[in-house]
Amino acid sequence: KKADTLDIQALAKEVRAGARTQLSKAITLIESANATHKEQAQALLQELLPYTGNSIRIGITGVPGAGKSTFIEAFGTMLCDMGKKVAVLAIDPSSSLSGGSILGDKTRMEALVKKPNAFVRPSPSAGTLGGVHKKTRETMLVCEAAGYDVILIETVGVGQSETYVRGMVDFFLLLVLTGAGDELQGMKKGIMELADAIVVHKADGDNSRLAKKTVAEYKQMLHFLQPATPGWLSTALPVSSLEKRGLDEVWQTIKNFQEAIEANEYWAIRRQKQTKDWFQSMIIDHLIDSFYGNPAHKVQVQLLEQQILTGQLTVAQGVDCLFHKK
Ligand code: GDP
Repeated sequence: KKADTLDIQALAKEVRAGARTQLSKAITLIESANATHKEQAQALLQELLPYTGNSIRIGITGVPGAGKSTFIEAFGTMLCDMGKKVAVLAIDPSSSLSGGSILGDKTRMEALVKKPNAFVRPSPSAGTLGGVHKKTRETMLVCEAAGYDVILIETVGVGQSETYVRGMVDFFLLLVLTGAGDELQGMKKGIMELADAIVVHKADGDNSRLAKKTVAEYKQMLHFLQPATPGWLSTALPVSSLEKRGLDEVWQTIKNFQEAIEANEYWAIRRQKQTKDWFQSMIIDHLIDSFYGNPAHKVQVQLLEQQILTGQLTVAQGVDCLFHKK
């Protein structure tokens, strides 16, 4: 036990000193399902906690093919060249849902990976561990302690993952393509209401003019939607990651956002709320795990299911039976 504590302190020191291999090691520890590792991971986090919170946390989403990887590579490279330390994390919804991987299969962000002040954490490969994505918040904190000023969290815009990412970032960016006419119809209003800015991507070549028109359409739409962040009117802008145009405008927008939201104090309020929500969801996860972790409960649930299906019990009575109300 003593030796473990010492190791953790050394590791914490090395993470803070900015060693990327040690950062990777720390994240692997955090993602581990092993009970000892879990304990060590929490001890490590406790050591690092005082040095967290100093980054800007940016979520990035869009359908497959919207150009997320290409954008993050170009945007991240620009930020590195400005002297920022940039960490890229990914939440791959497919690894928790279907066991397949959407994000993980590609060779990703080769140029960005080579930058000394970038850290790109590949998304956990398909089927390795359920629930690894639940560790992304902790991974983000470790990156902050390692001195990363900008954390980019990528997710595919399908299902629940964008709501999940919205719940852990300061600024949320949605990547869309031109041809908004159709897309605006089909796109869930919900996802637009999460976005602090919409990037109309691949605004180059023959697409340039259409992109401008699409930007105007999105801007107009955004006026009618709930703002994602109180005190900020979400905006839209054209970007070409291939031609590296519009990237500094994205950064300027994020800086304007930060200034406005820090001024109205919602910045700190949102982070506190996110931490409270995280605590709540971990309590719920814990309750579910400890309930289904008990083999007797599983058997009981199956028996009650039969009684419910054959009409002997109502669903609510079945639940009461489980919790000994009857
Ligand atoms: P992701 O699935 O959202 O990560 O999309 P990718 O980054 O893999 O990009 C999908 C495709 O779009 C690739 O063929 C890219 O080369 C292309 N692409 C990405 N960004 C741009 C851009 O700014 N302009 C153009 N014309 N193509 C792009």
